[in-house]
Amino acid sequence: MSDELLALTAAEQAKRIESGDVSAAEAFEYWRGRAAGDELGSYLWVAEETPEDAGTLPPVAVKDLFCVEGVPSMAGSRILEGYRPPYTATSVRNLQDAGARVLGKTNQDEFAMGSSNENSGFGPVENPWDRTRVPGGSSGGSAAAVAAGTAPWAIGTDTGGSIRQPASLCGIVGMKPTYGAVSRYGMIAFASSLDQCGPLTRDVTDAAILLRHLQGRDPCDSTSLGIPGEIPLPSAERLDGLRFGIWGMEEAGLEPGVADAVNATLAKVEELGGGVEQIELPNAKHGIAAYYVIAPAEASANLARYDGVRYGPRSGNGDLTSLYEQTRHDGFGEEVKRRIMIGTYALSSGYYEAYYGTAQKVRTRIAQDFAAAFEGVDFVVSPTSATVAFKLGERTADPLAMYLSDYYTVPMPLAGIPAISIPGGLSEGLPVGIQLAGPAFSENKIFEASYALEQAIGWKETPWRR
Ligand code: GLN
Repeated sequence: MSDELLALTAAEQAKRIESGDVSAAEAFEYWRGRAAGDELGSYLWVAEETPEDAGTLPPVAVKDLFCVEGVPSMAGSRILEGYRPPYTATSVRNLQDAGARVLGKTNQDEFAMGSSNENSGFGPVENPWDRTRVPGGSSGGSAAAVAAGTAPWAIGTDTGGSIRQPASLCGIVGMKPTYGAVSRYGMIAFASSLDQCGPLTRDVTDAAILLRHLQGRDPCDSTSLGIPGEIPLPSAERLDGLRFGIWGMEEAGLEPGVADAVNATLAKVEELGGGVEQIELPNAKHGIAAYYVIAPAEASANLARYDGVRYGPRSGNGDLTSLYEQTRHDGFGEEVKRRIMIGTYALSSGYYEAYYGTAQKVRTRIAQDFAAAFEGVDFVVSPTSATVAFKLGERTADPLAMYLSDYYTVPMPLAGIPAISIPGGLSEGLPVGIQLAGPAFSENKIFEASYALEQAIGWKETPWRR
């Protein structure tokens, strides 16, 4: 298969497959070759062969933490090395039912904890735009693979920004749906009240198609609802009558080049007939503080199951306590241990109200801020990340600096609402992401608006055409 597929979006490839120009098996084989040739560390596993039934859609790259039957699924952690689940996550199963086969498992920060993919137990991922820089995290492998053209499209998870931030840093589209839109069954858990699966794609149309197939109520996940109604292909050309509330442009850490790209996008919003106004989310600045209590608290409970008995490798000999201790000592990376300690501390008797209780109150306030904002505007717009892709190693020594990478993305999952990141331009030759958030279940509206903007921006940049 020639490189002609590389230039096409997944939707365009699906049409070629449907028309019989290309067979699904040829497409799979082509992408399998691309994935196997990846040099960025994007993949932890690539399909060994083309499936007999290659489906009807281009294959999809899947973040490592999605359980896929018989396929290594380790959530980027050494503690799950060699684990091959006996079942497949509902989200992945839905894609398979729709005709997309699993191309490979993508690298990620261990248990999705990170913003740079440097916390993976299996080595970092390099950003295809500049291999000395991070792709973002924790879905860094999925983002790098789509941006580098080693996958036609991909899925990831977002707990505090892990779809949108890497999408932003790699110059692609990433969408975090409303909490409950997509089943979490079979997704190796980080923080269950925040985790949500979503698409990482070349463009908005591909994201809409992928979400159409991913979403749905699942009896195996009692928090899942699906998205009411259909997800049509977005087609809007104008933004007339829509109001965009800008948030976060005054922050000290915002790079001037990022601000310029956001402002240029806001000018496009107005050209297309949309209204732009400043809004306040008074409590959003406390998002990071609340998130870094709530997410570690939930993680400390979710990660208790990795004990050397039920999954993966086992260390230690002698008594049971030393088996648990040694296994967890050897199997978990530093960041995961840090979070387990923060989480268990925050939940401990006597401190629970002061930390966890307070963080939950902040969470409610942030949700109320968004609700109030959406009485006046249709979307909240902001940068996705305050900076373009940073250098590998730049923030690893300082966990707090790393945590601040998620300043703009953490409030939305705390409020449970959907948000997309689309490429808005370049700063210093690196992609800048624009974030659009809307009320719960406004996915279609977000797709329509971001599609119109995408056409106006005319983003054609890819690292591989250079
Ligand atoms: N970077 C954030 C964290 O480290 C968010 C990660 C995520 O969304 N999974 O927790």
